[in-house]
Amino acid sequence: MSATACAHLSAISTVKGPAKRECLECVKIGSNWVHLRTCQECGVTLCCDNSPNRHATKHARASHHPVIASAEPGERWLYCYPHDAFAEY
Ligand SMILES: [Zn+2]
Ligand SMILES: [Zn+2]
Ligand SMILES: [Zn+2]
Repeated sequence: MSATACAHLSAISTVKGPAKRECLECVKIGSNWVHLRTCQECGVTLCCDNSPNRHATKHARASHHPVIASAEPGERWLYCYPHDAFAEY
């Protein structure tokens, strides 16, 4: 973790990964996604901002869950919405 990491990011000791490699909400509506993100508060996996439905960001705003992790293979980073902060792990 970098020295500039926010309190949300530095509070995370174990990063939650995706239970399934799919966007929970896109599957319900039969839509597609580009990349997947996992909410570090509740563990739900949703789609990124390059996806048409941007479910991860909608979830973060609606639920006030601050931090997501990339659910893409080989990517190891976290992002905090309220602080607009990235951290690799
Ligand atoms: Zn934060
Ligand atoms: Zn989605
Ligand atoms: Zn959540």
